[in-house]
This record gives sequence, structure tokens and C-alpha cells, in this order.
Amino acid sequence: MMKTIELSSELIKLHKYDGGSDKRATVDLIKTYLEKNNLHVELITSNGIVSVIGSTKGRKENSKKIILNGHYDTVPPSSSWTVDPFKGNIKGGYIWGLGVVDMTCNLAAMINTSITLSKEKLPGEVVVVAVGDEEKGGHNGTKATLEKGVAGDYAVIGEPTGMKLAVGHKSIIEVELVATGKSAHSAFPVAGKNAIHMMAKVLNDLVEEYKPKFDKYEELFDQITLTTGTIRGGTAVNVVADKCTAELNFRLPPKMDKDKFLNALQKQCGEVKVNTLLADNGWICDEKSDYVHTASQLLERITGSKTQLMHKLGGNDARFYSAAGIPTINVGAGNMKLLHAPDERVSLTELKQVEQYYCELSKKLLA
Ligand SMILES: [Zn+2]
Repeated sequence: MMKTIELSSELIKLHKYDGGSDKRATVDLIKTYLEKNNLHVELITSNGIVSVIGSTKGRKENSKKIILNGHYDTVPPSSSWTVDPFKGNIKGGYIWGLGVVDMTCNLAAMINTSITLSKEKLPGEVVVVAVGDEEKGGHNGTKATLEKGVAGDYAVIGEPTGMKLAVGHKSIIEVELVATGKSAHSAFPVAGKNAIHMMAKVLNDLVEEYKPKFDKYEELFDQITLTTGTIRGGTAVNVVADKCTAELNFRLPPKMDKDKFLNALQKQCGEVKVNTLLADNGWICDEKSDYVHTASQLLERITGSKTQLMHKLGGNDARFYSAAGIPTINVGAGNMKLLHAPDERVSLTELKQVEQYYCELSKKLLA
């Protein structure tokens, strides 16, 4: 068994295969490593994305099952890195490298937790779920594993939280707006109907309505926000545009009714048509549940500081477990400011803490 820090390093070195999204080497490493350490391994493939499922053996009938979920895919490195993003070096009390925060080191800690606990012959079962596709929406990763029956009584997501306890994130709605006008000679615009101008009016109103009212991270959790991601329209500078499309990304508080929101949006946009591209649930874990209570007390003991429950704005794979009715929390090492940023690094102290946390939490819940 490798130390978690070594395993993290090995995984970081393989991230160089990203870009071509060829993760075969990563999948092979995780699969072989788990098998060598006596876990039962299953691969689930969906549209070319392979998830590795490792389970501890010796589960008694009707005993509990905990899922430790981490993703091995990353976003590409920016040009602003000051160290080699593919080395996985250890320097100044940190491990450095692409994806180490999001979330290679937490995945490594989960993998090693499953191996450590497989030796303890707990009555329950630990299932480590290493997935790809998280950065592209997770439908071919975690969602596909759930569709194949990889479920449990509890789930832990290893996205970075700076060792805080996250219990929810917002819903994600993506729509395409389509404005259809009529083309005409630009010198006689009244003969046509300019689709770009129709779109501009609608977008202006939406941007005004969903302007963030706060600038603090947590405060935005209860508010709908909007980002216009793309806009396209027109054929030539001297032609009245007959078509304009825009793609919009909304983030909603997780308890808000998505259908109601979409109906209201269509009314608001009038003759500009709204096509729904994505309507994914948010995630919410009952803050008063025994699970959150146990998770919170343990975190306090391991980190030595008062546990703060937090909500995330961006989505992660927790929403798939939540939608399947599985209570889900998210705890991970790594500063969230370094998510998708240059010079990702995780302190070795946090890395130690997070592994201890996954281990002790699993033992408590499976006992
Ligand atoms: Zn992530």
C-alpha cells in the first residue's frame, strides 16, 4: 500500500493525459492498485468514461454501506502555473499539481481509506467510487454508476471544502434563447425584424432582474443568479439579423421549483423562445439529521476547530446521490480558492486530517 501522498503524486503525473481526455492510465492505476490490495473491483463504462468501483468484502446481510466518491478528471492547466503542474512535487509542507485540490488528493485519501478498512473486517461495506466526467457534468460518471445500481446508505463527496462540512449546492438550469426575426436590407430596417435587437432587450431585462444582490459567497446561495455564456446572431453587417441565439446558465436555490421557474422565464421572454438544455437538481442534506450531527462532531474533533456547515454555489456529483435519496455530505482537503486555479496545492496536515476523517466516519457509520 502506498502512502496517500505518494498515491496523489502518481495520479497527478497521469493528468498529463488530459486534453485528449485519455484517462486509461489513470483508470488502470486505480483498478490495479485496488485489486492488489484485495478490494473487489468493478468497472462501469458510459460513453467512453470509465468509473472504477472498489468494495470491501465481508459485508453482513442488511448491514450499512457507505460510498466515498471522488473524481479523477481535471480541467486543463492555465499558463499561469509557476511550477510543473504534472510533477506532483512536495515542497514547503504542500503537495503541488494539477487537480490536487479538485480533487486528486481527496480521491487518493478515499482509495486508501477503503484499503485500510478492508483489513478491519467491518460489518458494513465501504465502496470507493472513482469517476471521470465530473468536470463535464457527471452524467457519464457518478450518474451512470447510480443507474447501474451503485448505491448506499450514506455518501461522502471529496470535493475540496477546506475541511468544512458542506451540506448543499444550488440547482443548475441551462437554457438556449432563440430570437427569430426577419432579414432585410440594413438601409431599410423597418422592412425586417432584427433578432439581435429582440435578444438584447430580453437579455437586458434578465440581467437586471438577476443581478447579484450580495457579493459574499454564502449569501448568494439563496438567490437566483444568471450568467450569459454565449451569444450568436446575424449573417453580415449590412443585413438585418433574422436569428439570434444565446446560452444562459442559471443557479437556483436547491428547494426552488425548477418547472415553475422555467414557465415564468418563458413568459418573461415573450416571443423569444426558451429551450431547456439542462435542469439538474441541487443538493441538500438535512442539517438536523443524525448523519450531519455525527459528521460534524467528528470533524470538530479531528480539525480542532468548530465545524461550520457550508453551502456551495457550484454543482458537484452530490446532486446525483441526493436525487436518489441517499444522504450526502461533502468534506475535502484543499482551499476552495485554488479550485481550477494555477499552483493548486494541498497542505500535508489537511491531507492527513481528511484521510483520518474518511476512515473514522466510515467506521462510525458502519459499526
Ligand atoms: Zn471537482
